[in-house]
Amino acid sequence: MDNALTIDVEDYYMVSSFADKISYDDWGSFESRVERNTQTILNLLDEYKVKATFFVLGWVCNKYPKLVKEIHQAGHEVASHGYSHRLIYNLTRNEFREDIRRAKESLEDTIGAEIYGFRAASYSIIRETLWALDILMEEGYIYDSSIFPVHHDRYGMPDSDRFPHTISRNGAKIQEFPLSTYRIFGLNIPVAGGGYMRLLPLYFMKKAINSINKAEKKPFILYLHPWEIDPNQPRIKGTWISNIRHYQNIKSAYPKLEALLKGYKFKPLAEFISDDI
Ligand SMILES: [Zn+2]
Repeated sequence: MDNALTIDVEDYYMVSSFADKISYDDWGSFESRVERNTQTILNLLDEYKVKATFFVLGWVCNKYPKLVKEIHQAGHEVASHGYSHRLIYNLTRNEFREDIRRAKESLEDTIGAEIYGFRAASYSIIRETLWALDILMEEGYIYDSSIFPVHHDRYGMPDSDRFPHTISRNGAKIQEFPLSTYRIFGLNIPVAGGGYMRLLPLYFMKKAINSINKAEKKPFILYLHPWEIDPNQPRIKGTWISNIRHYQNIKSAYPKLEALLKGYKFKPLAEFISDDI
């Protein structure tokens, strides 16, 4: 069974957990570690001969075009993570359209190929922002991977379909790749990667992937950020919950990723797009 590996390419100071401490206008003043950390991931994937989807932030692409070219030239899929990492429910429809248009242009100019996959900052496509899917379709995207079928203070649509599906709205269609959950005791437990992967023991992650692959016969969709494999990143003082979300078990991410690469097959999301949309 093939699974999907997705990397959200952003730096440690751009995350939603610290957005109340660090403004977008100050991003340029931080020590950048995104190139080096993404390179480490590229090297690991090369070692295991795995191709992935890299959802790159437009801002990162503008500043480090060489990195994005390298991701593309290594045979990975480059997709969009928007331009400025703003949560969709804090944007107007026009602001969202401008943000994703700017990101798409920057990425396409850089790699010289079409971008058609999207992931929202912090999975911020929720029931109230489903209109974002209409704008994504209008702007030429054919798939989205922003819906997390869980309860969370910042995101989530617990009743949403847990597996890849096609969403039809106003006569148009878009493929959705929701982040993976493990259905247990009638609840959707988030197991898709990131902070959840750092928090959960490896055996539990494997149990969840095996259950999704073997019992439910569906692909597992894993995500990770380059800053998650960098225990030595400069520390930002946030609220206690932000600190837990960002730094919890940060040393475990790289070995866990490597263990999953050893045990399972992964490919980019683009290769899961069904022919019927
Ligand atoms: Zn992000």
